[in-house]
Amino acid sequence: MPRSQADNSKSRRVVVVGAGIGGLTAGALLARRGYQVLVLDQAFVPGGCASTFKRRGFTFDVGATQVAGLEPGGIHQRIFDELEIDLPAATPCDPACAVFLPGETEPINVWRDPEKWKGERQRQFPGSEPFWQLMTTLFEASWKFQSRDPVLPPRNLWDLWQLSSAVRPDTLITLPFTFMTVGDALRGYGLYENQRLRTFLDLQLKLYSQVNADETALLYAATALGVSSEPQGLFHLKGSMQVLSDRLVEALEKWGGKLLMRHTVEYIEASGGKATSVRIRNQKTGEVWTESADEVVANVTAQNLVKLLGEQAPQGYKQRVDKLPPASGAFVIYLGVDQSAIPLGCPPHLQFLYDYSGPIGENNSLFVSVSHPGDGRAPEGKATIIASSFTEAAMWWQGTKQEYDQLKQKYTEDAIAQLAQYFYLKPETIIHQEVATPRTFAFYTGRDQGIVGGIGQRIPTFGPFGFATRTPVDHLWLVGDSTHPGEGTAGVSYSALTAVRQIEASA
Ligand SMILES: Cc1cc2nc3c(=O)[nH]c(=O)nc-3n(C[C@H](O)[C@H](O)[C@H](O)COP(=O)(O)OP(=O)(O)OC[C@H]3O[C@@H](n4cnc5c(N)ncnc54)[C@H](O)[C@@H]3O)c2cc1C
Repeated sequence: MPRSQADNSKSRRVVVVGAGIGGLTAGALLARRGYQVLVLDQAFVPGGCASTFKRRGFTFDVGATQVAGLEPGGIHQRIFDELEIDLPAATPCDPACAVFLPGETEPINVWRDPEKWKGERQRQFPGSEPFWQLMTTLFEASWKFQSRDPVLPPRNLWDLWQLSSAVRPDTLITLPFTFMTVGDALRGYGLYENQRLRTFLDLQLKLYSQVNADETALLYAATALGVSSEPQGLFHLKGSMQVLSDRLVEALEKWGGKLLMRHTVEYIEASGGKATSVRIRNQKTGEVWTESADEVVANVTAQNLVKLLGEQAPQGYKQRVDKLPPASGAFVIYLGVDQSAIPLGCPPHLQFLYDYSGPIGENNSLFVSVSHPGDGRAPEGKATIIASSFTEAAMWWQGTKQEYDQLKQKYTEDAIAQLAQYFYLKPETIIHQEVATPRTFAFYTGRDQGIVGGIGQRIPTFGPFGFATRTPVDHLWLVGDSTHPGEGTAGVSYSALTAVRQIEASA
């Protein structure tokens, strides 16, 4: 960074609403680049959906359990380098996931080694290789494009310039596929009727894009599925997920920024189409005050942003948010268990589909993360099991408290019964048990209705057609999983970097 640039920005004040990975990354980078940064978060600990909580000697990752972007050149590595802090220690996940389809006892292993994964998928899904080759080609082109930091979707000439500068001849191969879904590609290769393949894709895509193969944009899917292979890959952090946020907080403070936890932003003031200040409430003391800012970075969902703007939300923006298809919530069960509950050779991440009936995610599938001995999450001889399923968020807000408790109880019992098909779960092996519903996520992460994972990577909402980090309100920026390239700690870090570059360019 040129020195003069840092000097120019010194007097500019930035308020960041939310200390999730997106907000912390944006805040720390802006502080590093010379801005005066104040980050506010309503929760008890930073990290949002990528934070942790402790119970009876166990440390549970609240939401995110796997991290992409730690490899050399990966987004976390690039950002940590700029912040001059060490990357957290991590082990690669290999397989990235072991997927069990209904009635099957052998999983489909998504291996990290591309050749091994090729062998596995050829054995599991005979005749599907042309489809996978297309996915690999699209992944390679899209990855190179994303590594050149395009601004997507562009909202002014500078954004457009950044976008076109990232395009190279090798990007052009992706263009004809912009409006295709994974379902379209499967049809093109005559694979649509292959139930095992389609179910496997539905399951995996639901994790990354919120929607199934029929709806997921092909270009997004190519990136989401390709990222688990070398030289990229998914990683399991040593200690817990909290280490990622803790390092970012350390960097924020090292570069002169400030973080206030238990401080809720109730309102973003935007006069004359420009964000000017935020109204803050200190949760502990009840004190309320207004903090003026030259730039406001909102690390919240698009739905929350509209609420924070209230009457001042631009009508077109509000309507767009209102028309979004309902986003998913998550039901998560956190178990602290005796090590004897874990089968020998259990992979760290598993996905189960329990029956072929009904849409995937409606209480018939689980994504499971299991701790390893010595990874910092459980005392010796014990382990953590965290299992999540997607759930319609709205139903958890209807009805009486009693009905809510009954629903929670039913989901808990179903999850335990499903997990017990693989793990040895008995009263004597379960030491701690706790669940989170959309209501829990709404309370701890402030997310509207407790929705998680962004806006869904359908054709009308992915990449070029999604929500921009540059909002229609001047000096107001949106970072996090509602924006390109979507959910995940790596995804939200890209959005933070984009907003930081836009802020710097607009100074
Ligand atoms: C069950 C589950 C499993 C997941 N698994 C993975 C995974 O394995 N790998 C992966 O990479 N990703 C995973 N994800 C997704 C990932 O966790 C998120 O996409 C990412 O962490 C979101 O980060 P964010 O910065 O956008 O927002 P958030 O994490 O939502 O952070 C927003 C922060 O803003 C604060 N906030 C909100 N409103 C206000 C306000 N008005 N005032 C003050 N503070 C406010 C909140 O308290 C919160 O700390 C998972 C998510 C869930 C729910």
